[in-house]
Amino acid sequence: MIQRIEGICADRGLRMTAQRRVIADVLAKSGDHPDVEALHRRAAAVDSGISLATVYRTVRMFEEAGILTRHDFGDGRARYEEAPQAHHDHLIDLATGKVVEFRNEEIEELQRRIAAQLGYKLVDHRLELYATPLESKPTRTKRGES
Ligand SMILES: [Zn+2]
Repeated sequence: MIQRIEGICADRGLRMTAQRRVIADVLAKSGDHPDVEALHRRAAAVDSGISLATVYRTVRMFEEAGILTRHDFGDGRARYEEAPQAHHDHLIDLATGKVVEFRNEEIEELQRRIAAQLGYKLVDHRLELYATPLESKPTRTKRGES
């Protein structure tokens, strides 16, 4: 994955500094759609000289180059993932903030059909499901009452 990011950077004339490489590496290894602050914590653990401002600049640069995809999962924080090679959609667990990736062929086909019925060829889409867990976990106050 890091080679892919480095390759794209080289193609687009972006100089791959040591700090950018650390940030790219952290991104490539993050499967959880981190925000900039989480990225900064992880990058700074590798190289304490990496500032939050550097992470912001690098993330913006990678996003403009199409290396990163930015998401807004409704909490007002921009979240990032390496631009996926295979399409997927997201379910956001509102109880924990966890982001679950999924792909459903019926949904993909349905969206193509809807676009076609409206006279369009579907080229992309984003789907976000906001959900709470079906099984509610017992809360601390209720435990032991029954
Ligand atoms: Zn994702």
